[in-house]
Amino acid sequence: MGLSGLPRAGRDTYVLRGLLHCDPCGQLMIPTCTSTGGRYYGCPHRDCPRMLVPADRTEARVWQEYVRGAADAAGTPEPGRHELLVAALRRVTVGAAPDDLHYHWRPGRGGAHTTE
Ligand SMILES: [Zn+2]
Repeated sequence: MGLSGLPRAGRDTYVLRGLLHCDPCGQLMIPTCTSTGGRYYGCPHRDCPRMLVPADRTEARVWQEYVRGAADAAGTPEPGRHELLVAALRRVTVGAAPDDLHYHWRPGRGGAHTTE
């Protein structure tokens, strides 16, 4: 896309901001950035044993799940994805493993996305 050479600092591309919940404790997971520039979501619960969830991989998976039912949105650039996901999903919960994602679609999305 020609943007990969730009510095990543300062952009807010946490497309799952406000959507990702820690399943064991029900807390909203908070976007966080490591000193090495890695992007993660973390559970704010102090006693939660959960590891940080890698943002890139998790966002890609949720986005893939979304475009399965909305193929015409597949070309949406990253800055526009957050709005689409928030409109379609009530939340995404993450189980004990970072890849254990559960999708809670809003009513009207049809039944195609039920993964539980
Ligand atoms: Zn937690």
